[in-house]
Amino acid sequence: MLMRLIELLVCVVAGWLLATLVGLDTHTALLGPIAGVVAWVVWDGLKAAKVARWLQSRRYNNPPKLLGVWGDFIERSRKAFRRLQRKAQDSQRRLDEFLSAIQASPNGVILLDDLGRIEWANQSASDHLGIDAQRDIRQYIRNLVRSPSFASYLQRQNFDHSVLIPGPAINGDTLAEISIRMFPYGRDRMLMLTNDVTALKRAESMRRDFVANVSHEIRTPLTVIRGFVETLQSLSLTPDEQHHYLELMGQQAARMDTLVADLLTLSRLEGSPAPGWHEWLDGDQLLERVLQDGQSLSTVTGKASQTLQRLGLSGVSLSGNISELTSAMGNLVSNAVRYTPDGGVISAGWELGSDSIKFVVRDTGPGIAPEHLPRLTERFYRVDRSRSRETGGTGLGLAIVKHVAQRHGGELHVSSVVGQGSTFVISLPIKRYRAAA
Ligand code: ADP
Repeated sequence: MLMRLIELLVCVVAGWLLATLVGLDTHTALLGPIAGVVAWVVWDGLKAAKVARWLQSRRYNNPPKLLGVWGDFIERSRKAFRRLQRKAQDSQRRLDEFLSAIQASPNGVILLDDLGRIEWANQSASDHLGIDAQRDIRQYIRNLVRSPSFASYLQRQNFDHSVLIPGPAINGDTLAEISIRMFPYGRDRMLMLTNDVTALKRAESMRRDFVANVSHEIRTPLTVIRGFVETLQSLSLTPDEQHHYLELMGQQAARMDTLVADLLTLSRLEGSPAPGWHEWLDGDQLLERVLQDGQSLSTVTGKASQTLQRLGLSGVSLSGNISELTSAMGNLVSNAVRYTPDGGVISAGWELGSDSIKFVVRDTGPGIAPEHLPRLTERFYRVDRSRSRETGGTGLGLAIVKHVAQRHGGELHVSSVVGQGSTFVISLPIKRYRAAA
């Protein structure tokens, strides 16, 4: 302020001096200081205009060089702008980080304005709804998502629950299932969350099917046993007849027992950690054991002319879980024995591939038609239901084999020619093999 007063005073004195030098009389000499004041006002105005231009240009890092009050004002403004700029940059950085976190989410997020138009959408939401996050900004969501269930969801304005709509096609023909839920926020704005629930719905339906199948499988032998119990209670039977009925009841009980054992095996396989790599077992012994069990089954089922032979490599040492591998290999050999008619040949053994060690079971049984092959490892899937039951099958054997193979980092392969026979191969990573000492 003092500086401005001094400047004004200098102008007034300079004007008076000039008037005196020019030789104006005392009366008119007053014009000198007045001219000095006008000159100061113009000068100060020019400085103010310079500052205003600088403020308008927004080039805060390049201020005009002025002294005094204006210089001070410029310096203070520059600092204030710098602070604001830093704050704005900070907020922008945080917003960018926040948006990229939402962008990375597998859940879809869309922000809608008060008219229901898209303000922002992440990539997952775009994939779920088949929209373009850039192109469709400011488009009405109701025009982009045309499913009738979504239209009535919007119309009802009851957003306490989610709504399911068909999503994009997966594997060509089936459609994904997308769940949408709206959350009102701010002033009439909406947060829209989308979720791909296809896998969840499929798992739910598989679980439902599984429970229905298990109930059915248990109910069948139970019904038979109840029938026999009623017969034994209501009829007076000869000891031979009683013995016969009790034997049949025993068979049904054994069937339930096998089913429960297979179910427990499956649940153990699902619930326990995958087998490690450091437990080494004798592959030859394992093979001997499952072949012996197969031979006993063959004898018990009266297939006197069925041949079981060992093939392939010997001196096999294997890393894996012994009870899981015994169960998987045993299932393949017992299937071969059960489905191959008397007189047929079953060969089982180890074969070494370039990057795997394989357990192979070949039979000369009825074979399996190609359309059944992709479904064989589904739980309770049978090609011939009555044949499976007759031979004591649960429909879970190959599901167990596939599980065991996968837990050991391997796979199950099936090839078959109807009328000629089938080959089942469990191939395990070569790392699980070493030649026995
Ligand atoms: P199951 O207990 O019924 O044998 P699996 O899961 O072991 O159930 O096998 C599924 C189906 O695959 C069987 O019902 C049978 O139809 C078919 N199958 C399995 N092994 C053989 C085989 N060696 N020869 C012919 N068909 C087989």
